[in-house]
Amino acid sequence: MREAKIIVHGGAGTIRPRLWAAYRDGAHVAALIGQQILSQGGSALDAVTEAVINMEDNPVFNCGTGSCLTYDGRVECDSFVMTDDMRIGAAAIVTNVKNPVKLARVVMEHTVHNLIAGEATGRLADAYDIEKIDPHGLVVDRRRRRWQEMMDRGLEYMVDPELESSDDPTDLSDEDGMDTVGACAIDRQGCIAVAGSTGGIMLKYPGRIGDTPMPGAGSYAGSAGAVACTGHGEAIMRVCLAKHCYDLMESGMPVQEATQQSIDFLVQRVNGFAGLIAIDSKGSRAWSTSTPNIPVGIPEGVVDSSSGQSPA
Ligand code: ASP
Repeated sequence: MREAKIIVHGGAGTIRPRLWAAYRDGAHVAALIGQQILSQGGSALDAVTEAVINMEDNPVFNCGTGSCLTYDGRVECDSFVMTDDMRIGAAAIVTNVKNPVKLARVVMEHTVHNLIAGEATGRLADAYDIEKIDPHGLVVDRRRRRWQEMMDRGLEYMVDPELESSDDPTDLSDEDGMDTVGACAIDRQGCIAVAGSTGGIMLKYPGRIGDTPMPGAGSYAGSAGAVACTGHGEAIMRVCLAKHCYDLMESGMPVQEATQQSIDFLVQRVNGFAGLIAIDSKGSRAWSTSTPNIPVGIPEGVVDSSSGQSPA
């Protein structure tokens, strides 16, 4: 029997000091929820799913309730799950489901597909009794105010050249997105899983799908471990960041080195801003980010370092 472990993140970005405690504690609580499942002999897949559900219901994070808004002021969510036996489930452009990660599980467990997007996700939710919600119910005041502020400044899309070419990730705050959530775990049987959920990035073009539901880009899991990324999805996708980190772990690189080298690679290749968490097959965990902050949750205690890398 192995020792079960979990690590979660609450998004890489620039978190305003007055909000830091909410992010830090939210990530810690989600990790505790996952750990409780693991301690009772539950599966890594259940642990990461429940940790993410808790964060989807926490309005602080950019997923489920509290998601960022599209250019036309609506919520469109993406979600993902994957296990080390190469099973994948993902949902994208989800507009009316309270917990999009539950839909990712349905895609994995009840369909022959990997990714379902758009209007059909609502029908899938109906077919499998997944709780629906009025799309307005996912919008919180803080995001609405930020959306209005950005519209008033005449900003077009988050992916416009002004932001894409920015060398300064502090241009982007938690309220612009980058506070997607993810979780990686290994259970007592040695099974490994990853889950992620996001509202994407503020002012994204309607229909834009980010890295989170893309296997190998935002997340990946296999027998060597699991990786969950967060940050600027377009940059993450260009370098397939999660698979890059996974491959380093699979080649035998220690997890902490693998996370840091992956972030260095992202910066060198596409000048991207992103962070990631990872767990290896021995249960060692690490994180790294090119952004000022990444709230990380582990059950053993509150992680109060707002930024940077995991301790050695
Ligand atoms: N990676 C997400 C996206 O681009 C955003 C985030 O991590 O907060 O959709």
